[in-house]
Amino acid sequence: MSHSSVLLQMENLSVTYFGPPDVVAVHGVTLDVKRGEILGLAGESGCGKTTLIGALTRLLPDNGEVTHGRIEFDGVDWLGLNEREVDQWRWTRVSLVSQSAMNSLNPVISIGEQITDAIFAHEPRTPKADGWDRARSLLRMVEVDPSHVHSYAHELSGGMRQRAMIAMALALKPDLVIMDEPTTALDVVVQAQIIHEIRSLQERLRFSVIFVTHDMSLLLSIADRIAIMYAGEVVEVGTRSILNHEASHPYTRGLIQSFPSVFHQRTRAGIPGAPPSMVNPPSGCRFHGRCEERMAVCSVYAPEDRDLDGIGHRVRCHLFGDSGITDRQPLAGRGEGSGKSC
Ligand code: SF4
Repeated sequence: MSHSSVLLQMENLSVTYFGPPDVVAVHGVTLDVKRGEILGLAGESGCGKTTLIGALTRLLPDNGEVTHGRIEFDGVDWLGLNEREVDQWRWTRVSLVSQSAMNSLNPVISIGEQITDAIFAHEPRTPKADGWDRARSLLRMVEVDPSHVHSYAHELSGGMRQRAMIAMALALKPDLVIMDEPTTALDVVVQAQIIHEIRSLQERLRFSVIFVTHDMSLLLSIADRIAIMYAGEVVEVGTRSILNHEASHPYTRGLIQSFPSVFHQRTRAGIPGAPPSMVNPPSGCRFHGRCEERMAVCSVYAPEDRDLDGIGHRVRCHLFGDSGITDRQPLAGRGEGSGKSC
């Protein structure tokens, strides 16, 4: 086991769904997750967030495969583990809270049985009564009345189901909890309560979180660092503060300007157009068809990652750094072509 501050490292990761047509849904992603941090992963629907999570959890569909790069988890080659080893790591090292607890929880097994199943499967010597006591404690920890240990999913509200999922995910004290849009289906009041709950549990228990959402405003309130995905690539990553105040990639700036701020006066503006088809992604920068700042070079050469501050504010855009490409003239009629599929 490594004692580095980095828990999870993805290096130049690409994931392909084999067709026809073959689709490279994640392309060249380099990203790390530090111990005890909440890393937010944001982007529009179809940008590759779910595929990246599938690769990280080794739960890609049958036609999906990591075709390039590596994932290292706590110093171990994660993609090199066999299925049995991955099963041992699930729940104990990495766990997942998915978007819909109703679809993830088994409707014919009580909440307590589902939590204790995970405990007994990984710790078979645990006495039965202790397992059930732990299930009650876990429910209490996520502020669900422990008497619900005998309830079924349909007997709980949406918020309680999501809390029960979080309790299950924490049952075996994993190092990393992946939360895939965990509050999307909830109303804003319950969403705020659960976000507060996640943050306080994470601060208390010091596990790492990858928090996936299309809701940038949510990440600006909960994440330590944020990675922005567009068309299968991570186009910017930085601390919450950097992205809130000094977002650099035009797409990130567009995302941030898409929602109102209670702290700053700003004009709300959407991002013109729609994400490109991943069957035939655009040449050069994948955002060039929607970018108000695109230059001649942008549709020809793919930008490389650039570390702007030497401490991890990374951007993939020709506006920054010197990639040896000199043709940086702005295009006449900026914004022309916005809205076209690129
Ligand atoms: Fe816009 Fe060019 Fe930067 Fe892409 S590389 S985001 S098109 S300026």
